[in-house]
Amino acid sequence: MRFGRHMPVVPAPKEALLRTREVGGDATQIFVTNPRGWRAPAPKPAEEAAFRALRAELGGWPVVVHAAYLINLASSNMEFAEKSIALLRATLDRAARFEAMSVVFHIGSHTGAGEEAGMARLIAGIDRALDGAAPGPMLLLENDVGGGGKLGGRFENIARALDALPRHAARLGVCLDTAHLWGGGYDIGAPEGARRTLDEADRVFGLARVPVWHLNDAQAGLGSHLDRHARLGEGRIPLEGLKALLRDPRLADAIFIMETALTTLGEARETGEAESETELDVRDAAKIDWAAERRRFDFARALAGVAAASEA
Ligand SMILES: [Zn+2]
Ligand SMILES: [Zn+2]
Repeated sequence: MRFGRHMPVVPAPKEALLRTREVGGDATQIFVTNPRGWRAPAPKPAEEAAFRALRAELGGWPVVVHAAYLINLASSNMEFAEKSIALLRATLDRAARFEAMSVVFHIGSHTGAGEEAGMARLIAGIDRALDGAAPGPMLLLENDVGGGGKLGGRFENIARALDALPRHAARLGVCLDTAHLWGGGYDIGAPEGARRTLDEADRVFGLARVPVWHLNDAQAGLGSHLDRHARLGEGRIPLEGLKALLRDPRLADAIFIMETALTTLGEARETGEAESETELDVRDAAKIDWAAERRRFDFARALAGVAAASEA
């Protein structure tokens, strides 16, 4: 079991690894393109080489890439869907240069065309993105809170997409976000509900296909269909449930990534005000309360009942 967090890639991508290690993590999630931009910036070979060298030095540090939020393969707008395929493929290529183990993307919304049409586009889009992509990182379908045409609120839709692409089976998997499960109505706030949710995921697509989890708390209620992350222990998911989930032996080999905003020094509200996954980038490391980040890793590990990552 590993714990990581999403880290900014400024001033250099390799800083993301160093900072994660400094605060006691042992896995890192990064963006490799602008999370809100359609165009992948030109690669910077020297930065990538430095990143790979450090990753090797750290014993093959696990790296997860989060794809841009704009991507919606299921969109009924053809131009939008085409741009999504191109950007996802570019993200996979870029992730390979960073030796990432996987690329996580949001499976998107049917934008009014209905679930059948949306699923068909999603499946065709994944197929095309993978066909043209460099070999390497796995592509992980992230669950969402459902509602408003979103396709990832139910395990069945995720399984349908996986099952439709046996040709890519070895390269496809799932990333489950705890805040999204909660928002989607899976009651992971109680031990019994957490176990039932894991049972269902195991039955529908198999927990072995979930190498990465997003470990976020939620500001909104169970089944609210709202995607508002909170820092672990500061949101509305009761900890007994999260504790049971983290301690389930079926998740012993998973990587848990925290995605809430980094704590800034002198932050007005000590309770995590991270509103979404879109507030993760930070330009000035001197403004970050790294000690608070370290406490969060300690808290996550204590919840899971595992010892801290060995100090280098
Ligand atoms: Zn996400
Ligand atoms: Zn989210």
